[in-house]
Amino acid sequence: MQASLTHTIDGRPVEAVEFFDVINPATASVFAQAPEASRAQLDLAVEVARRAFERWRAVPTASRRKILSGFAAAIRAETQILAPLLTREQGKPLAAAVREIESTAARIEGLLAFELTPETLRDDERGRVVLDYQPMGVVGAIAPWNSPLLLATQIAAQALVTGNSVVVKPSPFTPLATLRLGEIAARTLPPGLFNTLSGGNELGRWMTEHAGIDKIGFVGSVATGKRVLASAAASNLKRVSLELGGNDAAIVLADADVDSIAPKLFSGAFANSGQRCMAIKRVLVHESLIDRLGAALAQLAKQAKVGDGFEPGVELGPVQNRPQFERVLGLIDDALSRGGRALAGGAALNRAGYFIAPTIVTGVAEGTPLVDEEQFGPVLPLLTFTHVDEAVARANATRFGLGASVWSGDPERAADIAHRLEAGTVWINSHGGSLPEIPFGGCKESGIGRGMGLMGLKSYVEPRVSYLP
Ligand code: NAD
Repeated sequence: MQASLTHTIDGRPVEAVEFFDVINPATASVFAQAPEASRAQLDLAVEVARRAFERWRAVPTASRRKILSGFAAAIRAETQILAPLLTREQGKPLAAAVREIESTAARIEGLLAFELTPETLRDDERGRVVLDYQPMGVVGAIAPWNSPLLLATQIAAQALVTGNSVVVKPSPFTPLATLRLGEIAARTLPPGLFNTLSGGNELGRWMTEHAGIDKIGFVGSVATGKRVLASAAASNLKRVSLELGGNDAAIVLADADVDSIAPKLFSGAFANSGQRCMAIKRVLVHESLIDRLGAALAQLAKQAKVGDGFEPGVELGPVQNRPQFERVLGLIDDALSRGGRALAGGAALNRAGYFIAPTIVTGVAEGTPLVDEEQFGPVLPLLTFTHVDEAVARANATRFGLGASVWSGDPERAADIAHRLEAGTVWINSHGGSLPEIPFGGCKESGIGRGMGLMGLKSYVEPRVSYLP
């Protein structure tokens, strides 16, 4: 069993009294213990974060940048330690874990390029009016289990760059790499600036209720996002940024080149075994292409190597946890019981661990939970349409609004159609991916606010207007 990692509070390891199990999804067995934070430990973390904030806000921007780029470099330097930890707790192939760590460091570095410059709103005989930005204080970062390091760091980096301090809480399913990140922060950042605490959902709730936390950066499901918002409002009206789930549609027009788009559609849907907020979660394909596209995607699904992330050549790992594994299997069984047909997959793999064969389903329509809900797993429904207007209306007929894409041999026509889609991000002939300099987030129930880029940084500061003589 792996030696336990600890919480980090005020730049120091803090011993826990209670622990919880961490399961390797590739074996379904416990391989480590993570510390369970108490309410008193959260109070302490918030208290030290407040003191660190008061010092950090006064640090000149250039010095802040230097310190944070040192943090990014230290993360990159620990890739060989972090990546196996991530694969073991999350399940993703080792090469993907290495990429996640590189992206984690790159996210911090990418944000350092931005400057929140004051704006002169008026300058005449009546005087000057200037708009500038002040940090908010202590930020609580609450992250999900699909890309734990990247998403926790994304929230934290936006907070730190803009002069705030953070208390970071990973998902109870994937706490370890983030706790290790706390140790790196303890070596490279001023004490108290970056605190990590692991625990269950209860710890997240305590954070949203805590009067000493000024803002919550949350990435997770819609259902939890709504609880976070309600609790933040009821406590001290803390600010919230919510990056939530999606049910992204990919619309494939009749003039699309099936052979060239099939591999891109496949990776857009199945990367990280479909456990990405911005994965393609349903395909609306013109009826003339369904047979060819179905066959091409089914072939890719059958060829994909599924297994333990440490096995050489593995492309897709397991579903991350048992509840999600059972949920995804339930959605597949339900779709097949309603007349759906699995062109590939359709069941769990016959081995230990939470493995599901990559599954392509046809013969289903709206009204089926696999189509209407966010599956967040390795299964993709293909639906047909006759007219483009109908495809647009069906793509928009959802409570989600994260991403969407249009696939066509005529990119300009595709762009016109994409601009009729209700989504935070639209792509033409590709789907997925986010960058530190580009804002990302959702419409409707997919979230509130945008993360990353200048727009993201502005959601971690309060505007201040000064009337000057
Ligand atoms: P989740 O909502 O179950 O959990 C997310 C985090 O919230 C965890 O750390 C959890 O412990 C915590 N939590 C649970 N209850 C809480 C409460 N009452 N108050 C405060 N915190 C609480 O989500 P998940 O299952 O870990 O992640 C999958 C979801 O995340 C999917 O819906 C996916 O689409 C979404 N996601 C969105 C983005 C994005 O950028 N939009 C990115 C990745 C994942």
